[in-house]
Amino acid sequence: MKLVDLRSDTVTQPTPEMRAAMASAEVGDDVMGEDPTVNRLEALAAEKMGKEAGLFVASGTMGNLVAVLTHCNRGDEMILGNLSHTFLFEAGGSAALGGVHAYVLPNQPDGSLALQDIAAAFRADDPHYPVSRLLVLENTHNRCGGTVLGPDYLSQVGDLVRKLGLHLHIDGARIFNAAAALGLPVQALTREADSITFCLSKGLCAPVGSVLCGSREFIARARRIRKQLGGGMRQAGVLAAAGIVALETMTGRLVEDHRRACQLAQGLREVPGLIVENPVPATNMVFAHLSDAVPLDGGTVVQRMAAEGVKIGLAGERRFRMVTHYWVDDEGVEQAVEAMRKVLQ
Ligand SMILES: *Cc1c(COP(=O)(O)O)cnc(C)c1O
Repeated sequence: MKLVDLRSDTVTQPTPEMRAAMASAEVGDDVMGEDPTVNRLEALAAEKMGKEAGLFVASGTMGNLVAVLTHCNRGDEMILGNLSHTFLFEAGGSAALGGVHAYVLPNQPDGSLALQDIAAAFRADDPHYPVSRLLVLENTHNRCGGTVLGPDYLSQVGDLVRKLGLHLHIDGARIFNAAAALGLPVQALTREADSITFCLSKGLCAPVGSVLCGSREFIARARRIRKQLGGGMRQAGVLAAAGIVALETMTGRLVEDHRRACQLAQGLREVPGLIVENPVPATNMVFAHLSDAVPLDGGTVVQRMAAEGVKIGLAGERRFRMVTHYWVDDEGVEQAVEAMRKVLQ
């Protein structure tokens, strides 16, 4: 039986081309700025994002944390969504390590933050208040269903943050999925941002790493913060080499993952007992939950699906997340639908 792993696009393994690039990568001491492959990845990432400079970091979490600590002083406030990855899933790093205060706004169903909420969250200059410093957006928005923030909304946010004097960081872990879904170059989604993090190790299939991009001055400060966090890596070119292959060869094919997510959602919609929440997924994620009539709990369904060779993510007591990626083909999608039919029959 073939194994189909839909738990996340983080499970993607490096392609043979990546492994070959890693094996032959030219390397040096990156803390001394001497790893030519890391330097090439950072320059390539910055160019793609339309920013002056890039910084290779160990993970998306580290990229966001470095960004927050570079933008904010202790006691400053960042405004972010209640369903954002940075708020929910990064172990409170910005508070623990940066003393940064979080002002949490409700994410709208499309992953956005309402402009009037942002404006209302901004603090007047008053010794009672923390200093409003940073707005964090997420694109695509993971917990909201892999939803996409488009250029019109982003440009309105850009106008607002400039008016208020806030900095804007985009957690663009899957920004290339957003760009692919819109059929736009990724720069159309990064223009308003002072900084942006994106992941090499999700849909782009690299084994490790993210890149934080911003102005040359910002990245110079971020480099010191990365060192403080213990993220200065030495011959990291072996990892960056896979990242270069990811950027050069994997972004153009993400539409295939989106097509398969659509196929998966449509197939699952026909399975009695399962309610697909986004029958036309915005990107590569399908969310579904069990109807009240189903006597099984979510954990049991996950286990029985695994016994059929299909791993899915539990996203609530009776709710699932399924993510398509490079290692899931059309047959894998069919196998997943058939497995769900069998488990729920
Ligand atoms: C995966 C993810 C991250 C970073 O995750 P790491 O596992 O630390 O690389 C950040 N933001 C979002 C929205 C994500 O989905």
